[in-house]
Amino acid sequence: MFSKILIANRGEIALRILRACREMGIQTAVVYSTADKDAAYLQMADQAICIGDAPPAESYLNIPRIISAAEIADVQAIHPGYGFLAENDHFAEVCRSCKIEFIGPPVSAMAAVGDKVACKKLAKKAKVPTVPGSEGAVDDERQALKLAAQIGYPIIIKAAAGGGGRGMRVAHNDVSLRAGIKQAQAEAENAFKDSTVYIEKYVEYGRHVEVQIIADNHGNACHLWERDCSMQRRHQKLVEESPSPVLKNSVRAALCEAAVRLIKAAGYTNAGTVEFLVDRDQSFYLLEVNARIQVEHPVTEEVTGIDLIQEQIRVAAGLPLSFKQKDVKQTGAAIECRINAEDPARNFAPSPGVIQELRVPGGPGIRWDSHVYAGYRIPPNYDSMIGKLIVHRPTRALAIATMKRALQEFHIAPIKTTIPLQLRIMEDQHFGSGDVDTGFVERVLLGK
Ligand code: ADP
Repeated sequence: MFSKILIANRGEIALRILRACREMGIQTAVVYSTADKDAAYLQMADQAICIGDAPPAESYLNIPRIISAAEIADVQAIHPGYGFLAENDHFAEVCRSCKIEFIGPPVSAMAAVGDKVACKKLAKKAKVPTVPGSEGAVDDERQALKLAAQIGYPIIIKAAAGGGGRGMRVAHNDVSLRAGIKQAQAEAENAFKDSTVYIEKYVEYGRHVEVQIIADNHGNACHLWERDCSMQRRHQKLVEESPSPVLKNSVRAALCEAAVRLIKAAGYTNAGTVEFLVDRDQSFYLLEVNARIQVEHPVTEEVTGIDLIQEQIRVAAGLPLSFKQKDVKQTGAAIECRINAEDPARNFAPSPGVIQELRVPGGPGIRWDSHVYAGYRIPPNYDSMIGKLIVHRPTRALAIATMKRALQEFHIAPIKTTIPLQLRIMEDQHFGSGDVDTGFVERVLLGK
């Protein structure tokens, strides 16, 4: 096992990884930018190394500086968390060529699933259903219009290198498809320095259901059941839960098997997520694979009792998973609400600044994964998520009741957060009965 790990991330996930290491008796070094110099978790690490200024390119995305920090700290492995360099196969390669283990999949597997177009091709080979659409990149308008006539509208235009809901456009006719392709290409070039786009059928009233997987280097490839992440705003998740409240058991089993088939075909090891869209008759289609730990991993940890970060570290150290597929049970119901420092009353504008008052909920069934505290200054430079509130109860109805109670207990001032919207979701009868889809929040709760 490793004796020291570098955490190449910030915020709640840096603290989450730090906690996992500490329980395993592994020392930690954590990197930080000048914007994060006062973060309290820096005090909890064995070593904290400043790697540069606030802009990500000068710190959390700066490979030479992170590698230098790893060398100074004399670590054997780097955990990238999520976002930043987590899915950068070049970074993984650099780490390993410096004899520092990258806690993640092999470079070949990252490349096989990282590009959405390549991943769809692999899915076809593994007999995993994909959304009908272009076989590869779409570069001219004529080709797109012809395909759209075959598939039928609505159509979604997506960036091959996309992420975080960016670079996507829905088109309802030829005119908006033409304009949408140009806009999506420009947006993709801007955000990902890769203008490749492709098109697929837009699955209306679908649900987002994803499967957590993890595989070791000893031939064990397991799934840890599904998460339902249909409550979204602008294609970004707000609430995640496990199990999905509506999936038939036969569909759940087929979905999990398909996910394992796909990652085996990719030669994938370590943790990852296979995302699907599930339509109204519960047919499912692959969306993409996220080759990293995800924000919403705690709901899976709660229902399975498995510590995913610790398993990631075990796998990277060459050890077998600590469980077998048959041992992985889904017990009770878990729900996570992402708490973002955004103002729902002002179109979710970021609300950075100092948290002057903070009272976090507690009591039975509650987990709060966050790095913030009273007196903490939320820097304006990064993602607005300040923590994740997770509940785990014997049934979904109890989990909703506990989440409602927890959100009511939550007090944070003067910054604005998404708590009022989360509370509305928990009180909504459609959410309660599971009668929702990926467009529900915007269509019904936000009235767009
Ligand atoms: P990203 O990598 O940017 O997160 P994804 O491919 O994971 O993009 O899609 C994010 C969300 O966008 C999905 O959860 C879903 O709400 C929506 N979406 C993507 N593709 C489709 C599609 N073909 N039909 C309907 N919704 C889609």
